Amino acid sequence: MSDSTTKSGAELLIDALKINGIQNIYGLVGIPVTDLARLAQIEGMNYYGFRREDAAVNAAAAAGFITGKPGIALTVSAPGFLNGLPSLAQATKNCFPLIMISGSSDRNIIDLDQGDYEGLDQYNIAKPFCKAAFRVNRAEDMGTAVARAIRTAVSGRPGGVYLDLPAEAIESMMIDDKKGNNVYEIVDPAPSVIPSDESISRAINIIKNSQKPLVIVGKGAASARAEKEVKELIDTLNVPYLPMSMAKGLIPDDDSHSAAAARSYSLKNADTIILLGARLNWLLSHGKAPVFNESAQVIQIDIDAYEFDSNRRIDAPILGDMKSSLRKLIDAVHEQEVTVESQWLDDVQNVVLSNKEKMRTRLEAGKTSEPLNFFGALLPLQEYMNEHPDTYLVSEGANTLDMGRNIIDMKLPRHRLDCGTWGVMGIGLGYAIAAAVETGKRVIALEGDSAFGFDAMEMETICRYHLPVTVVVLNNGGIYNGTDKVVDNQPSPTNLDPRAHYEYLSSAFGGDSYVASTYSEVKDALVKAMDSNNPSIINATLNPSAGTESGHIDNLNAKIDLKKA
Ligand code: ADP
Ligand code: MG
Repeated sequence: MSDSTTKSGAELLIDALKINGIQNIYGLVGIPVTDLARLAQIEGMNYYGFRREDAAVNAAAAAGFITGKPGIALTVSAPGFLNGLPSLAQATKNCFPLIMISGSSDRNIIDLDQGDYEGLDQYNIAKPFCKAAFRVNRAEDMGTAVARAIRTAVSGRPGGVYLDLPAEAIESMMIDDKKGNNVYEIVDPAPSVIPSDESISRAINIIKNSQKPLVIVGKGAASARAEKEVKELIDTLNVPYLPMSMAKGLIPDDDSHSAAAARSYSLKNADTIILLGARLNWLLSHGKAPVFNESAQVIQIDIDAYEFDSNRRIDAPILGDMKSSLRKLIDAVHEQEVTVESQWLDDVQNVVLSNKEKMRTRLEAGKTSEPLNFFGALLPLQEYMNEHPDTYLVSEGANTLDMGRNIIDMKLPRHRLDCGTWGVMGIGLGYAIAAAVETGKRVIALEGDSAFGFDAMEMETICRYHLPVTVVVLNNGGIYNGTDKVVDNQPSPTNLDPRAHYEYLSSAFGGDSYVASTYSEVKDALVKAMDSNNPSIINATLNPSAGTESGHIDNLNAKIDLKKA
């Protein structure tokens, strides 16, 4: 350690993170960042060591979404950096604030391609996958680099930032007289963006002339922590809303304005769409017919003007941060006494009731279904979450994700994390770890058996830190399901082993293990697992024929006539 008047780049980096209220680092160490992680611990930060970089970077991204401060990930150079890169890209796509810091090799050797240990031009490779990339070459620039990284990650549309840290910068020293070290607390890292009066009037005029407005709430409203304003707008106008999957719980799913169980009906029939922090991407069928009414008027609040007109004409774009924009819109609704005919809400509610009744019948049948199907396996989770809404739920898979999203209600904001904008697999355990670390609450990771395989080794991480995470594996022995057969002499491309004892991965590292093959067994195991606060895996063995190809998005799958081959 240096004396009090000189400081290394590593010390200044840690000082800069700490002074900005960042406490946790998620990473996987090796050359050249091992001492940096040790120093972070000595300086009072918490360091969480993972088994693969993608999971560590996913954890940091989830920490960013949950806390609103950038999550910090740390990786080694070249292969470690490359393993982290998909998660950096995903965080950026998802608009999660994240700073991925990677150690890197000697610039002189890399630039002349002379063959360094894990030598790669990481800084340039990272650029297309993040909001911004910065390289820090000198200790005295560390404070500035952290300030720029934090501000970029959280302001405007949040996203991932890459910070390249050559070994020399970590070791390099500067005389620290405080004045020149550029380490400071950032003033107002994500400034409010107030929408123009004209944009609000345009929206109000549309709402005034609308009979059937539908609000769509996306994870941008969740990131913006705008739950109070979202609820106020919906209550004031008394209109139905659809929550996107990670916006579930912003308003409790059992609210009478929720159109979630009448998704197709409400999208097709709405004459006005009010988009709150949701993109008209594939998850919303690009805003097009037949899912949407082609002649509906669209109001969109977003912090990024780039989003407007991405897929269809936006009649009233409102550029601003969600809280400020909604505040202004709600005030205008009150001032101008804008009202919406309540027949529309009644119509939507009738469809909701009828669809909920159909779902209740299926769930009831699932209770006695042997072998177990998705309904019987998911009902205990629905029941548990209703009684314990303060539990975090992470979910991924195909059928597991799609059916779980429809069946399990959320009642609190930002308590659900899932595959996100790309619909990726392999986020589950990283997200679950961050949810447990950042909130101290219990976490359920609801995983398809295929999805679980992507980051299953992080069970060791969960056990090492003794985190209250229960992984529920819905094991139907395959991607989509376990009964596919193509040729006689090979397992099908989608086959996995339905007899796999995924629960052993928990006992292997000192956690608890459960196997459950009926509704009651899943229910008992879940209650025991959650009451214990121990890390655990519940292997729920489903009928291998349960589950459909690509879950609810088979329309996106390329089809070939296999019989002709
Ligand atoms: P979902 O997948 O839930 O539909 P998306 O990730 O597609 O949501 O969309 C989120 C949108 O929210 C993005 O276009 C992003 O720019 C926007 N956004 C993020 N944070 C804010 C904020 N604080 N205020 C307004 N819009 C925001
Ligand atoms: Mg499966």
